Amino acid sequence: MPLYEFQCEECQKIFTRLSPMGEDGTNLECVYCAAKPVKKIFSTFATAGQAVKSAPLTATSSSNCAPGSPFR
Ligand SMILES: [Zn+2]
Repeated sequence: MPLYEFQCEECQKIFTRLSPMGEDGTNLECVYCAAKPVKKIFSTFATAGQAVKSAPLTATSSSNCAPGSPFR
């Protein structure tokens, strides 16, 4: 079930409720003052942003094989 955000028209408080798809708040009551109906707010659902991709690790493995100094 999606998480919807509602605002009470009585006390203006905002709360979230897991509600069936399409719930518009007319069947819900405020969790603070129990007034109904409450107003649905559209904010939470579309904000699931893209996951920020972590920057690729820079290759720091420098080869440590120093060429043998020619002893001549
Ligand atoms: Zn209320």
